[in-house]
Amino acid sequence: MSILSVKNLSKSFGKLEVLNDISFNVEQGEVISIIGPSGSGKSTLLRCINQFEKIDSGECEICGITMTRNDENGKAVYADNKTLHDIRLKIGLVFQNFNLFPHMSVLKNITEAPVHVLKQDKAQAEQTAMELLGKMNLSDKADAYPCQLSGGQQQRVAIARALAMDPQILFFDEPTSALDPELTGEVLKVIKKLAEEHMTMVIVTHEMAFARAVSDRVIFMDGGVIVEQGDPEDVFGAPKMERTKQFLKNYGQS
Ligand code: ADP
Ligand code: MG
Repeated sequence: MSILSVKNLSKSFGKLEVLNDISFNVEQGEVISIIGPSGSGKSTLLRCINQFEKIDSGECEICGITMTRNDENGKAVYADNKTLHDIRLKIGLVFQNFNLFPHMSVLKNITEAPVHVLKQDKAQAEQTAMELLGKMNLSDKADAYPCQLSGGQQQRVAIARALAMDPQILFFDEPTSALDPELTGEVLKVIKKLAEEHMTMVIVTHEMAFARAVSDRVIFMDGGVIVEQGDPEDVFGAPKMERTKQFLKNYGQS
């Protein structure tokens, strides 16, 4: 079963068409990287799937649950609110700018949603949070506040916070692009570890060597469409489309 199925998704902001007939699937345990120039619609695609934006048309299914289907006019119809809420619990999004709660400790940032949304027992949630912090190499930061952490540490807390909800699929929107170069590696390392554990992930990134190394499949977007997708060795090593070649040239990948 696909964890995510997107069919013919389109989205405009007013007259500006940002996503045009996007279709792709993500299978359980797959790691997909989405690459493409700035403004190509990558963030909007993640935001649509995560219900931060409404799509105009298309059929999206997450873990077999229908989020949107098309009516007879080809316009997207959303599932009822209860279903949409259930779907949100199955997915997580890690943002470019971490988006931690500044007034909460690291531990509280991670336990907040499990306790208040999933109604987990507080002690249980804290134990899980400490395990996740261990995995992120941040065991000593449980009582720190976000402002006391480096960007790389904050992003690893954000990843722990997303994992604490036990998502079926985790999305990353340029998780390292707000970081100083020397902090990028520590964040990529934890994402790589999750990939090795077969966490299902969709990662928007400009880190081409990383995408090539960890992904099962790479999607290249430009101008709101999927130009090319396939095995990372094919897309990076022998891109078929001229637009892909031009884009990768700037990154020294082709
Ligand atoms: P990417 O993440 O690939 O850089 P985005 O999804 O952020 O691209 O943006 C795609 C296009 O949509 C851009 O032209 C951007 O200006 C536009 N856009 C994004 N969000 C909005 C919005 N809320 N309102 C209007 N235009 C938007
Ligand atoms: Mg973006």
